[in-house]
Amino acid sequence: MMKTIGLIGGMSWESTLEYYRLINELVSEKLGDLHSAKCLIYSFDFEEIAREQEKGNWKRLAEMLINSAKKLELAGADFVLICTNTMHKVAKEVQEKISIQVISIIDATAEEIKKKGISRVGLLGTLFTMEDGFYSQQLAEHRIETLIPEKQDREFVHRVIFDELCKGIFKGESKRRMVEIIEKLNKKGAEGVILGCTEIPLLIKQEDVSIPIFDTTFIHSKKAVELALELSE
Ligand code: GLU
Repeated sequence: MMKTIGLIGGMSWESTLEYYRLINELVSEKLGDLHSAKCLIYSFDFEEIAREQEKGNWKRLAEMLINSAKKLELAGADFVLICTNTMHKVAKEVQEKISIQVISIIDATAEEIKKKGISRVGLLGTLFTMEDGFYSQQLAEHRIETLIPEKQDREFVHRVIFDELCKGIFKGESKRRMVEIIEKLNKKGAEGVILGCTEIPLLIKQEDVSIPIFDTTFIHSKKAVELALELSE
């Protein structure tokens, strides 16, 4: 039996839509006919999340995510995905409070990086993801070294995420600068780059850059489908 995927989404809904599409497409590719994914989505009001992030109120954010994860568990999810890289800052707290598994976007991405034989990657994401250490520390556990852009560039990427991508705004000039930032990271030794914000893959595609990209939205969705189908029998 196919397992039911629980999605903690709305962070932002622009990327949750991608998860929903990708998960269904991947199930359809694998099973054919009229098959589609069994899933449950808990979708937050992102303004409420972003405000707490700005205040640095990670305790409150953890409580909010725990509450949603419990609801998904009760509703029948077999495992859950937190559909944002940033909120993995509290993934361990969420895991401690539920009995189904939280599938880590960081571990799933690390697996893909290792498959490519790469050990040093650039990381683009929100300031929290790039600067707070939780992301690069977890990658280090997989023996993957992380390079982050310089301060000005980090601030630019963060602004593009919140002021443009999470609002469904896609600008050519932002894309060009983001590509430049990736090329700079490559010059500093990055062999690939993690698009470590689930909206960045809406702007940057593999053909835009010369080094391998790791699209965390796709990687996380693929992992979920593998688990949903593998666990089935
Ligand atoms: N979706 C973005 C991420 O993957 C940012 C949203 C958030 O701040 O949670 O990090």
